[in-house]
Amino acid sequence: MGKEYIFLMRHTDEPRGEIWEEPMVISGSDPIAWVEEALKNFNSTLKSNERHRTFMGLKEEDGGSTYCELSKRNGMTLGDGLDTYDIMECSNCYFQIKRHGISSAGKVKCFPEQTCRSCNKIYKTEKGYQNHMNKDRHRRPVWCM
Ligand SMILES: [Zn+2]
Ligand SMILES: [Zn+2]
Repeated sequence: MGKEYIFLMRHTDEPRGEIWEEPMVISGSDPIAWVEEALKNFNSTLKSNERHRTFMGLKEEDGGSTYCELSKRNGMTLGDGLDTYDIMECSNCYFQIKRHGISSAGKVKCFPEQTCRSCNKIYKTEKGYQNHMNKDRHRRPVWCM
């Protein structure tokens, strides 16, 4: 299960620039080591619309909700031109999400009992999920792996 942490970031070339919050869900017990590694990867593979970032600190952690624990499915980044993305998959409910940049997928609440793996769809209620499964008509988004 992932736990949510809020990381504070700024652009490296703007020491007095804005510091923003970036919530991320991670599974390890050492969020700082994790974010430093993630940033190292991010900074060394910058795309033309991305800027070098510096990690400024950890704001808080929220142990309340369970969020999807997403990890990358594809090897090379997918897509073409400006629409490049990675496909992230939750190791708990197998939901897949397209991720542009390091964190824009944000957080997805994890409902392993209410996720149709065939359709890559999360049902917020048990009833909705049951209705869907009873119909037994599934359609998988074309981009899903
Ligand atoms: Zn999940
Ligand atoms: Zn389905």
